Amino acid sequence: MTATIIDGKAFAGRVREKVAAHVARLKEEHGITPGLAVVLVGDDPASEVYVRSKGKMTKAVGMLSLEYRLQADAAQDEVMRVVAELNANPEVHGILVQLPLPRHMDEAEVLAAIDPAKDVDGFHISNVGLLGTGQRAMVPCTPLGCLMMLRDHHGDLTGMDAVVIGRSNIVGKPMAQLLLGESCTVTIAHSRTRNLADVVRRADIVVAAVGRPKMVPGDWIKPGATVIDVGINRTEDGLVGDVDFASAVEVAGAITPVPGGVGPMTIACLLANTVTACCRANDLAEPD
Ligand code: NDP
Repeated sequence: MTATIIDGKAFAGRVREKVAAHVARLKEEHGITPGLAVVLVGDDPASEVYVRSKGKMTKAVGMLSLEYRLQADAAQDEVMRVVAELNANPEVHGILVQLPLPRHMDEAEVLAAIDPAKDVDGFHISNVGLLGTGQRAMVPCTPLGCLMMLRDHHGDLTGMDAVVIGRSNIVGKPMAQLLLGESCTVTIAHSRTRNLADVVRRADIVVAAVGRPKMVPGDWIKPGATVIDVGINRTEDGLVGDVDFASAVEVAGAITPVPGGVGPMTIACLLANTVTACCRANDLAEPD
């Protein structure tokens, strides 16, 4: 039997519809338009694509979209000035500094300058700490999207064995925190993990966030497990995930495809986070 395909594209469409409905209500009932500002430094082509599609989708759900572009050789102070301006701008509820920043900049310093309440990427140390201690935080968009798909598929995740492959600050670690928050038993694997195949074979839930094309083969997957593939790898065969989809789909109970799985959910969650930030800033009920 082949796995259920978790359609992230369709799910993301539903999330965006809910966001758009909430935005419309905020405008109608409170005269407030949620605003998202994206800061792009330099001209990295992949970042350009992300920023453009973020802008388009922000407008499509009825929110205000602002874009700030700086040259690749801009001084860090200039980025800090833009961030300070956006922190003070009441029309802006969400600020996203597109990563990676040019090498001469200190990413941690720039992220730390963002008002945590407007930190819709959830990378500010305050939000990391709030998430880690189980308090209300802005949650990083990619892991949030993964969790939404898992919850939608399973309902309750209590007691499930989850293995997260990858321990980055933007995906692996927050993903593990979220799964812990759902009362999963969580293992975080990384490049130094021994016997990764055996570790993965124990898992009811596998989240692969590594950046190595097709590194998780089907025979690592426990029959019936749910596989969330975060990887986006550009290869000669086009975009592929970190999981070997062709073999994994034969064993898993459910699996996200690449493309069309986690990717679309990330931007949808960014929009949802911006509405959440806007509601919190105005003491209004948050979307559920
Ligand atoms: P990073 O490069 O920051 O982290 C990769 C992680 O994988 C590290 O923790 C690393 O371990 C681990 N790793 C590397 N090689 C192995 C190995 N052989 N076995 C086990 N673990 C290994 O990547 P990101 O977390 O930023 O991204 C991961 C993937 O997700 C990428 O393909 C990226 O493009 C994609 N991505 C997709 C998004 C989406 O919207 N769908 C959003 C963000 C990322 P160690 O720490 O020991 O080095």
